[in-house]
Amino acid sequence: MNWQKVPLCAGLTFVATPIGSARDITLRALDVLASADVLAAEDTRTLRHLMEIHGVPLADRPMIAYHDHNGADVRPRLIRLMQDGKSLAYASEAGTPAIADPGFTLARDALEQGLPVTSAPGPSAVITALSIAGLPTDRFLFAGFLPPAKGARGQALGELGAVPATLVIYESPKRVHRTLNEMCEAWGNDRQGAVCRELTKKFEEVKRGTLAELADWCAGRSLKGEVVLLVDRDRRQATGEDMESALETAMQTMSVKDSATAVSEALGLPRRKVYQAALAMAKDDQ
Ligand code: SAM
Repeated sequence: MNWQKVPLCAGLTFVATPIGSARDITLRALDVLASADVLAAEDTRTLRHLMEIHGVPLADRPMIAYHDHNGADVRPRLIRLMQDGKSLAYASEAGTPAIADPGFTLARDALEQGLPVTSAPGPSAVITALSIAGLPTDRFLFAGFLPPAKGARGQALGELGAVPATLVIYESPKRVHRTLNEMCEAWGNDRQGAVCRELTKKFEEVKRGTLAELADWCAGRSLKGEVVLLVDRDRRQATGEDMESALETAMQTMSVKDSATAVSEALGLPRRKVYQAALAMAKDDQ
């Protein structure tokens, strides 16, 4: 038996669960699952199965379904249970609750009611992919799933393109090829990226290369399973034209000084050079 009963206070504990391999659960997550007065799950069958694998008895404790389709109805009941002194453990289908999964509004409402919210942390596909993709990890932006509609997708790619960070995107395997092609169109062929598939599972695969190489690799292949896409920040040396156009946009909403800082960071250009260009542009506008 790997778990033990632990005292839990009235309130919410998010329990991270495996993203593939069932043994990727922490001992504390098992303790929380064994000890909470009430369990809630995005998929009650998945959580029951996980508890069975690890020998954690549900006994006569309630397990309540809480997901995107019933959240608004079930949330008040969960809040009431916690207000009545119950400890509640919530697990989403896989990985960390509230990360591209239900949980955010439950945590927000619990906090609004002055209830404690804590976590038994563990796996998440974002961090797992980022840690092995071979791309810089100093700064990253998790963009979740891109919007499916064409216009909104184009706008999202436009916004993400200039972010000076490694981008991490969740994607359906059916759309990976299309998305890589759209990224090539929006951002050029040469940015480095990675396709991380079936992490922690038997057929785990990580393909690294430029966006064009990755798009070629996907062409004609029917990818299966779950996928995280990662893309390095733009490493092209920005031209004077790039700098001026970025400054023009930035100076519509920011001071000269802040615009210079933002643009020099975004384009990797010396701040002094960008600041002088911004001053000259501001003067021309007067
Ligand atoms: N809450 C989860 C987390 O913490 O990662 C994410 C849930 S979200 C609904 C599911 C998406 O996460 C999948 O479509 C895929 O993009 C990514 N994902 C989850 N498990 C994965 C795995 N084993 N390998 C690759 N990607 C995975």
